[in-house]
Amino acid sequence: MTEHQLSHGFETLAIHAGQEADPRTGAVVTPIYQVSTYKQDGVGGLREGYEYSRSANPTRTALEECLAAIEGGARGLAFASGLAAEDTLLRTLLKPGDHIVIPNDAYGGTFRLFAKVLTRWGVEFSVADTHHPEKVREAIRPTTRAVWVETPSNPLLGITDLAAVADIAHTAGAKLVVDNTFASPYLQQPIAFGADVVVHSTTKYMGGHSDVVGGALVVADPGLAEEVAYHQNAMGAVAGPFDSWLVLRGIKTLGVRMDRHSENAEKVAELLSGHPKVTQVLYPGLPTHAGHDIAAKQMKAFGGMVSFRVAGGEQAAVEVCNRAELFTLGESLGGVESLIEHPGRMTHASAAGSPLEVPADLVRISVGIEAAADLLADLEQALG
Ligand SMILES: *Cc1c(COP(=O)(O)O)cnc(C)c1O
Repeated sequence: MTEHQLSHGFETLAIHAGQEADPRTGAVVTPIYQVSTYKQDGVGGLREGYEYSRSANPTRTALEECLAAIEGGARGLAFASGLAAEDTLLRTLLKPGDHIVIPNDAYGGTFRLFAKVLTRWGVEFSVADTHHPEKVREAIRPTTRAVWVETPSNPLLGITDLAAVADIAHTAGAKLVVDNTFASPYLQQPIAFGADVVVHSTTKYMGGHSDVVGGALVVADPGLAEEVAYHQNAMGAVAGPFDSWLVLRGIKTLGVRMDRHSENAEKVAELLSGHPKVTQVLYPGLPTHAGHDIAAKQMKAFGGMVSFRVAGGEQAAVEVCNRAELFTLGESLGGVESLIEHPGRMTHASAAGSPLEVPADLVRISVGIEAAADLLADLEQALG
């Protein structure tokens, strides 16, 4: 990309960054280079550096350049899943004896990676309430190498002050890693607030159509980016060409989708807030939300995820999930279609008995981009 293009707006970058028309045919959309190896012009004579598709593949390169542009980082890297991206990053940053601070509210699979996998390799972690930055400072040790934050968090929609936590991490000589899956770079760009690495499950809003599993890292500093890229190749959990292409296509419409997700979610949050069967609505767009002011400062809108607690406890919450019709009962989030789930028994079952256990009466919804009136009607009937 030229300097001129880098000054373009978000939607322009989403559609064009890394995606020049194909030089040979003029194809407007980046082709799917479904290929493992590349002809060399004499030993070591690589064409544009392509050698073997674990190391680099042109479709993945297009996605990686686009990711870097839309998050405002030095380099983007695409992986086979969000967890593959996380694992690669953590094994780049940490070694046995190192310590990391993690949030008390995070994706269950992220917690499982820390608690059940990395601890076996001698990595230590502490759980902190990152919504109160001073709790992060208290959790830091001399061996702390990184602070991990998710904002908005999954599934409790907690908000962390990115600039404040970046300061605390950097003062301690640690990196700040932000899982930006719930917001997407259209609504929030953590690097602008001091994050060193942004993590995505591109399975969610970036892909946006529930048809691909993928992950991404965007690294702010070119030196650290080089180290992560070395591990991406050395560990091999890369995104395949077709998966890269699907995410690249999804990103083109990210802005318009996020606008509609956010509009619909605001209407849903409003309906739920006034409903007698709902005891609490967790949505950063509500002025009553503890993180509302910080969210308003660091996000362009409040996103499409809403969680709520149901009067009558676990059984009542499960019944709401079972009665929903237009809201499909299923895990995952961020697609054009609305989804509903019970985190305690589904996405966050692996956090049971830990400091990240979620309330049993909690329901999480991913508000899609269907007609808002239909979504409201379905929730009304599901709440009974
Ligand atoms: C889904 C999710 C992940 C894990 O990503 P996968 O693509 O499922 O591996 C990580 N963080 C958050 C916030 C998620 O929602």
